[in-house]
Amino acid sequence: MDIFTGHTGWIEVVCGPMFSGKSEELIRRLRRARIARKRVQVFKPRIDIRYSHEEIVSHADQRMASEVVDGAQDILGILDWRTQVVGIDEANFMGPALVELAEQLADSGKQVIIAGLDTDYLGRPFPPIPDLLARAESITKTLAICMRCGNPAKHTQRLVESEDLIVVGATGMYEARCRRCFEPGIPKQERFEFATAKPLRTET
Ligand code: ADP
Ligand code: ZN
Repeated sequence: MDIFTGHTGWIEVVCGPMFSGKSEELIRRLRRARIARKRVQVFKPRIDIRYSHEEIVSHADQRMASEVVDGAQDILGILDWRTQVVGIDEANFMGPALVELAEQLADSGKQVIIAGLDTDYLGRPFPPIPDLLARAESITKTLAICMRCGNPAKHTQRLVESEDLIVVGATGMYEARCRRCFEPGIPKQERFEFATAKPLRTET
């Protein structure tokens, strides 16, 4: 509990695939907190430097000033003790320390709003989001639109070939897909297009 206001804290998680509106929803909630005259601080991991070093930016170009950190372990050091609402974007890149940090902040009376990918490019749960979901007071799952068929999409389809868990990029490198259209790894079709034909061995 916040010893100054007597208010209890809590954890809110907004999760889903890329393009599902997580950043938009995070920005919306943080703007409302500011309207309510609450002190807000926003953090994002250094790995996401696609558009700006000091802003969180949605795919529809909504923006909000943020502080950049190397991981969750750095947040406490730059947190203003008066901050009432803590926003965190791209939480799946913040590292495992985010779980304890979120608990600690909520226990000390702060409203913690976390946005991140819930699954990776193979469709596997993306740490530390599952642990945060188990501890959160509120969970919102956002869905995108499948770029193949228009159904609600819960997957992030990677369109470029790479075995790395993290390949930072947006349009052109990833697209949203529904469970029926999702192909773990890169789409098989593209692999065939680049395969070289081998001559058939014939028995003589
Ligand atoms: P996230 O943070 O989940 O990646 P953003 O909040 O950055 O999502 O962007 C959401 C916006 O992306 C939507 O409002 C829409 O304008 C745009 N968009 C682009 N592709 C899609 C898609 N396949 N499904 C839904 N929205 C999309
Ligand atoms: Zn689909």
